[in-house]
Amino acid sequence: MDQATLILIKPDGLKKSLTGNILTRLSETKLEIVAAKMVRVTEELATEHYRHLKSKAFFPELIKYIQGEMHDRRKVMALIYWGTDSIKKCRELAGATNPEEADPTSIRGSYGRILTTGLYENVVHVSSNESEAEREIKLWFMPEEIIVDLYPSKIIVEKERKVQAWA
Ligand code: UDP
Ligand code: MG
Repeated sequence: MDQATLILIKPDGLKKSLTGNILTRLSETKLEIVAAKMVRVTEELATEHYRHLKSKAFFPELIKYIQGEMHDRRKVMALIYWGTDSIKKCRELAGATNPEEADPTSIRGSYGRILTTGLYENVVHVSSNESEAEREIKLWFMPEEIIVDLYPSKIIVEKERKVQAWA
């Protein structure tokens, strides 16, 4: 079944110069990249992305982590992988959430670590199922930033919207 998956290279992955390595590992899946960009993560975006974990004690630290506050890298790389069973394939390559439990050959098993506070610094985010993938992709990307039509979209005319243009 063709499906889309949101991948984030988290700030620790960027700081450790793992971008090329992670993309090479993900290329083993033969999936297609249909969108990619660098994103400065606002508190609002971080909170919405991880809303299922709001009640957890580690939530405030997780929000700081994904915003790059611990790594002096206030950005993440966001990509959409598309193709057959993309969620299962990408999650397998990423490995278990806890880097100590992840297969040592997986991305998280190879490069993740647990902080003394207990937070899992695990290099990548991968959507966990199809409905989460749709929710996350709509949160991180506008339809025009994706080169295929993943979900129904519509044209709207925004009158007073300010946009930054080249000078
Ligand atoms: N996380 C953590 N401790 C936990 C569970 C999660 O630090 O006990 C962090 C970890 O960085 C993880 C993120 O919160 O990647 C999101 O958690 P989720 O349960 O969605 O795991 P994932 O889908 O990323 O494997
Ligand atoms: Mg998750």
